[in-house]
Amino acid sequence: MEKPWFEVEHYIGGEFVGGGNGFDVRYPATNEVIGTAPEGKEAEVDAAVGAAQEAFGKWGRMGAGERRLMLKRFAEGIRARADELARVESWDVGRPIRENTHGYVLRVAANIEFFADFVVTHGSDAYPMDTGYINYVLHQPVGVAGLITPWNVPMMLSTWKIGPALAFGNTVVLKPAELTPIGAWKLAQIAHESGLPPGVFNVVQGFGPDSAGAYLTAHPDVDLISFTGETTTGKAIMKSATDTLKRVSAEMGGKGPNVIFADADVDKAVQTSLRSSFFNQGEFCLAGSRIMVQRPLYEEFLEKFAAAAKGLKPGDPFDESTSLGSLIGPEHLEKVEGFLNGRSPAFHSGAEVRLGGDRPDLGAPFDGGNYLNATIVADVKPEDRISQEEVFGPVATAMPFDEEDEAISLANGVSYGLSAVVQTRDLGRAVRVAGAIDAGTVWVNDFFVRDLRVPFGGMKSSGMGREGGVYSREFFTEAKTVCLSNK
Ligand code: NAD
Repeated sequence: MEKPWFEVEHYIGGEFVGGGNGFDVRYPATNEVIGTAPEGKEAEVDAAVGAAQEAFGKWGRMGAGERRLMLKRFAEGIRARADELARVESWDVGRPIRENTHGYVLRVAANIEFFADFVVTHGSDAYPMDTGYINYVLHQPVGVAGLITPWNVPMMLSTWKIGPALAFGNTVVLKPAELTPIGAWKLAQIAHESGLPPGVFNVVQGFGPDSAGAYLTAHPDVDLISFTGETTTGKAIMKSATDTLKRVSAEMGGKGPNVIFADADVDKAVQTSLRSSFFNQGEFCLAGSRIMVQRPLYEEFLEKFAAAAKGLKPGDPFDESTSLGSLIGPEHLEKVEGFLNGRSPAFHSGAEVRLGGDRPDLGAPFDGGNYLNATIVADVKPEDRISQEEVFGPVATAMPFDEEDEAISLANGVSYGLSAVVQTRDLGRAVRVAGAIDAGTVWVNDFFVRDLRVPFGGMKSSGMGREGGVYSREFFTEAKTVCLSNK
């Protein structure tokens, strides 16, 4: 694959600015520089927020039907460039192209289109009273929405926010992660071509602390912040947003349990666990890589899971046979390896690295990238650091359990509560365990499927607030009650 060159830009007030300057954009699979992105500072954030405020006057008052048509054109533009966007996500993230299939980009478009339609049917509710009054509720836009997103699944996560923010009549300033600036720039190009009015959707590239992200969070004319990223960043953003009384939603880290009962279909459990542990090379907040298996199935599962994981092939993200991509950068690779190696690995001495733990030998140029073989650490203890902290790499852990109650308490024994996987053929047990696990989403016998109408978000340190359907409406609108008398 010929190496491209991206001169990434900001998109402010309908204009592309700042290209050809700024910081290096690197391709994670080789760490080669593949472009530049401009570093937004106070001036760019001010300009983008000003443009968004100005555009809000018209966009916020426009009928939902008119906004719907424009957003549908935006979604259509994303679909029309699906192949290009899939490649862009691989250049940005290092994820294998076979995981950035058409389906991923179609879902990116659906994130916009779903809310374009949803607002037409869910923009107001009426409650006639038998005492001669009609109460109706208008869900009105809040104003300028600051969206701050991470690097791991950039287009999916940003459009989860862009869709409802715009559909409900807010205008947007998006600050994508500095490690993955290309996708947001491409989305801005498509928004521009689709005819979204200037200032409705803005992108400011740049860094987080003491820079574009922090300015956006503290800006007095930004009305809300929707953030996805690390828990420590979420806390800093919440503190900063307090001064200007912004509403904040925060989707943060995870440490998903994957509870496999002895009655589970073992081959299906292996396949589900492969995806939940190694999709996006494990750089996934929803990863279900903290595997617990009921003792009678433990060894059989581990054997089959290790054999299947051994088949995952790291390498060129653009080779269709590659099934394990590169981690985002050298520092992150070292952080992930820090859980495994050195004098004090993050697990007790009785645990065993059953698979991987080492870097693959890929030859040039991918030896220059940030690859780690699929790794399984068996027999970990719940108190081991590797069982408690988010690893964010292709590393699964496994431990046995005996009773259902024990599995629930192990699953809940971490500070996070984003998502969980439960694998069993017993429906009653599935319902009991799903109900008892601390998680915003529980998948039974599957992983990473979501209808956009249902809430998505985390409990405990994993988040504040929910996205999806009416839950996004709650966050991205002000509800106003009008009480009408017919007397
Ligand atoms: P991060 O918190 O380092 O950065 C996320 C975004 O916040 C980036 O755009 C960054 O520039 C910005 N930022 C950083 N410091 C800031 C500050 N002080 N003020 C304002 N903005 C700031 O996270 P990351 O490393 O990009 O992403 C990985 C993390 O994201 C993991 O913990 C993962 O679990 C989490 N994540 C959560 C979800 C979810 O839905 N819960 C989804 C994906 C990723």
